[in-house]
Amino acid sequence: MRVAKETVVGIEYTLKDDQGNIIDASGDRGPMEYLHGAQNIIPGLEQGVEGLEVGDTKNVLVPPNLGYGEYSDKLLQRVPIEHFGANTPQVGMRFHAETNLGMRVLTIKQIEGTEVVLDGNHALAGKTLHFDIKVASVRAAELTELSHGHPHQSGGCCGGGGCGSGESSSEGGCCSTGEASEGGCCSSEEGASASCCSSEQPAAEAKSGGCGNGGCGCSN
Ligand SMILES: [Zn+2]
Repeated sequence: MRVAKETVVGIEYTLKDDQGNIIDASGDRGPMEYLHGAQNIIPGLEQGVEGLEVGDTKNVLVPPNLGYGEYSDKLLQRVPIEHFGANTPQVGMRFHAETNLGMRVLTIKQIEGTEVVLDGNHALAGKTLHFDIKVASVRAAELTELSHGHPHQSGGCCGGGGCGSGESSSEGGCCSTGEASEGGCCSSEEGASASCCSSEQPAAEAKSGGCGNGGCGCSN
């Protein structure tokens, strides 16, 4: 079976930047599963996998516009340091915040005197991504997976447990996007991952897929 719309695909991958530094890899986590054609993963990677079969390997080059977007200075903002209250801000810290673009993951880029510079760009915004991928599995998606827009593992949503009322509460339809168990729902903290970003995340994201390693989609 070839990778096409409405297939659930597992891929092993290593993601490198232009300098060849490894940014992320499926490694010990095992293949990342996603529902093809459902915008679970960045468009450039999805296009690269299209038509492959189990065992195929490929180098996929993803420019920023098909990855996590271009870096935008408009996503930088300054806030007074007092906003952090008792929490001492540190460069590199990340947190969720409501912005005029909705919930986003913000990173503290700089601290200048009494001001903190927050960066709403995705960690991989503006970067050209080099994926080495290997297709580990391809299967037809089940109807529930198609209706949820993401793959299911262990026979159910979010690793078999089902989502209960959480189902409708997140955009991707599955549990909370904050949940970070392996193979579970997406952690929005994982900015560097090819597999997972969240609707809150800047630049790249907008779509949260839901369950599975490959669950959360990244595109906007
Ligand atoms: Zn589901």
